[in-house]
Amino acid sequence: MCSSCNSGGGVWKCMSCIGYPIFCPTCCLAEHRRTPFHRVEQWNLGGYWEPSWLRQVGVQYSRPPGQRMPPAGGCRGG
Ligand SMILES: [Zn+2]
Ligand SMILES: [Zn+2]
Repeated sequence: MCSSCNSGGGVWKCMSCIGYPIFCPTCCLAEHRRTPFHRVEQWNLGGYWEPSWLRQVGVQYSRPPGQRMPPAGGCRGG
């Protein structure tokens, strides 16, 4: 169960937040908009916590506003 809203299904656990809180996807996203690089784990149907990424719940890795992606073809093989 989600430790934030106490209603949703707690399928996400943050290993970087204090106390390793468990979140539903909605709260996990809300709590990590500003901390997109926290290490999280997702409850697997197999019955274990599987290391995952916040982008899986929709957290966008922040980028300075107004900055654009570098032009295509400028850097290859990255
Ligand atoms: Zn929640
Ligand atoms: Zn966190």
